[in-house]
Amino acid sequence: MSFPNPIDPRVVYSSAYDIHFLGLERLHPFDGRKFTRAWRYARRLLGPEIERRTLCPRGPISREQLLAVHTPEYLARLRSSRYVAQAVEMPGLAWFPAAVLDCRILRPMRFGTTGTLLAARAALQGGLAYNLAGGYHHASQEEAEGFCFYADIHVSLAALRQAGELHPGERILIIDLDAHQGNGHERLSRGDPDLFIVDLYNRDIYPQDFAARRRINIDRPLPSGTGDTRYLRVLRDLLPQLPGHGPFKLAFYIAGTDIYEADLLGGLNISGDALLTRDRLVLTTLQSAGIPVAVLAGGGYGPRSYQQVANSLCYFLEQWGDRASR
Ligand SMILES: [Zn+2]
Repeated sequence: MSFPNPIDPRVVYSSAYDIHFLGLERLHPFDGRKFTRAWRYARRLLGPEIERRTLCPRGPISREQLLAVHTPEYLARLRSSRYVAQAVEMPGLAWFPAAVLDCRILRPMRFGTTGTLLAARAALQGGLAYNLAGGYHHASQEEAEGFCFYADIHVSLAALRQAGELHPGERILIIDLDAHQGNGHERLSRGDPDLFIVDLYNRDIYPQDFAARRRINIDRPLPSGTGDTRYLRVLRDLLPQLPGHGPFKLAFYIAGTDIYEADLLGGLNISGDALLTRDRLVLTTLQSAGIPVAVLAGGGYGPRSYQQVANSLCYFLEQWGDRASR
């Protein structure tokens, strides 16, 4: 088993993750500043340990690293304001210069993509890492949609493989528990037998991408309003199966908080307690199977979404940080 002992959990965060855009939150349920709000809220609850454990991405992911997954034509299309406005579902943004949209919206997500790579590296070294951004699971090779522009998991995998930190044949697990189906990484995973994908999502909302669903290895579509009991039963049924599909060198866990009952988009109606139970079940399963995991924050929509992210992060550090009794 490759899980290190002692475990050295890391948080990955930068204030450059924040999207400051003319009151964006009044136009869309996404709170662009939730990254810093979540990290500060967690710091108030946890104290200085979180600062000691936080790694900060030094810069946005490079064009060269993006080109390992995305086409040059696609990256050129991101210089069109109209295209970017369409991907974030805010047509009014098409009137802004592309350079402004790049600086205010795309650059923060390039930082988030560096964060996913940093979290993957930290997980390989210390067992566990939590990136407060990332999980852009609707982005595919040539398409941005659903507020996702860069396929951070696949960009990170390409970088790790190129650097010789991952090798052909080493299996990777993607557990996508965001409320939306992860159609982008599913499309990108066609033809890569080293990836094993688990996806639990609300089948009644966007993206309903039936072609991408064929790439999911364990596919669990759930109805709107599923609620705690059924959600956790489905999760408890599938988690024990995972180690049998390995061995896995690394897992990416998209811990979207948009399953939460007050979320404005997710629709699964899951309580705050059950959300933390979800994280506990996933992380303890991976830990006991010896699978290092990079947690990615994924989606979460609403003015208080940051509190759910912070609660999840606090649970993570209380369980595996300095004060944990492992
Ligand atoms: Zn989502």
